[in-house]
Amino acid sequence: MIQINQIYYLKSSDGEISELGECGGSLTTLMKFLLENKIVDGVLAVEKGNDIYDAVPALICDADEIGRTAGSLHCGTLNIAKILVKYFDEFPDLKLAITAKPCEAKTIIELGKRGKIDLNNLIMVGVNCGGTFPPVTTRNMIETVFHVNADDVTNEEIDGGKFIIKRIDGSKKEINIDQLEEGTYGRRYNCRRCEMNIPTSADVSFGNWGVSGSYAGEYSCVEVFSERGAEILAKAIESGYLLVKKPSKESVENRGRINTSMVNLAKKWQIHDFEENENDILSTFTLYQEEFKKCIKCFGCRDACPVCYCQDCTLESGTPEWVDKGRIPPSPLFHLERLIHMVESCTNCGQCEDVCPMDIPLAKIWHQINLKVTELKYSPAMDSQELILFDFFKRPE
Ligand code: SF4
Ligand code: SF4
Ligand code: SF4
Repeated sequence: MIQINQIYYLKSSDGEISELGECGGSLTTLMKFLLENKIVDGVLAVEKGNDIYDAVPALICDADEIGRTAGSLHCGTLNIAKILVKYFDEFPDLKLAITAKPCEAKTIIELGKRGKIDLNNLIMVGVNCGGTFPPVTTRNMIETVFHVNADDVTNEEIDGGKFIIKRIDGSKKEINIDQLEEGTYGRRYNCRRCEMNIPTSADVSFGNWGVSGSYAGEYSCVEVFSERGAEILAKAIESGYLLVKKPSKESVENRGRINTSMVNLAKKWQIHDFEENENDILSTFTLYQEEFKKCIKCFGCRDACPVCYCQDCTLESGTPEWVDKGRIPPSPLFHLERLIHMVESCTNCGQCEDVCPMDIPLAKIWHQINLKVTELKYSPAMDSQELILFDFFKRPE
């Protein structure tokens, strides 16, 4: 009997997938079960692109192809919710399962609240996340810190706070992530500040935290967050796709301790990164005026942001009268407009900062401002039934 808010050890009964996937291949096997039993039409996940630094989205509709999405890509920095919206726009009745990091799961709930995604048509299979690495910087890091040709690396993994690489000849090298982050390398800055490492807004979440002893590397630790999550796991176990064990009390406690230490680390980074202030939302925004002045108005952050999606962007509509059609108004009005539209829903996913050609620390700014909204007892995506604070999408007729 699989129950909500309970934690289980799961592994695949399929030897081939166990080899391909991480921690027993249970997530990949769950997706295979959903496809083979026609519970979903497709699975949206990521697969390796040109190399291990390149994660690209993949829509898999044939269960035999699911192995393409097995394993983790820690340089996979995209927010797949942006792509999910496009599929649902085109095919509203599609039933999909998606693999989602916590920031993606939060984004999906925010988009669901705004009617952009029908959450009834989506099974969200979460993955625990301790952070992602910027691809280009990580290639440089491998060459300068490990003295290894980045193209000779066949696999990377994070385990026990270490970044580990495996080379073509099978040899491994590792370094503490803390040590990397004392210098210029390490996780993306938004990830360092991220306090949500287990996606509680998903149906279930997979990870290796809390898997120890003879189970390490063989099983995933899986937490159930919804009735639907409990139901699909139970069916996959009953049908023989997944093997289940109950973890020990110590393992569950250990998982909790790892999560708490990640949250505490994130809070330290927030104190380190944020401009000091005790002020309200607008005053916090004002702290970053000098940064906004660097903006060249390329629209990149708006286009990349998964929660900034108005069909007709005010900035291009020619109204109100202070907007000259097609031209972004001078600083800080462009960013003020963005502030109004996503202040409550920013999920600190970092897409805006990743694309900004002027290196404006956008995710940091929006994260700091969004935490001010959280002080108003409103957290983005923590409750899919929660009302939207500022509903700009339902304008009066
Ligand atoms: S923002 Fe959080 S959930 Fe998203 S990739 Fe970074 S650490 Fe993971
Ligand atoms: S503003 Fe930036 S960090 Fe926030 S949701 Fe949009 S892209 Fe992600
Ligand atoms: S991506 Fe950077 S430069 Fe481009 S509009 Fe956004 S803030 Fe301005």
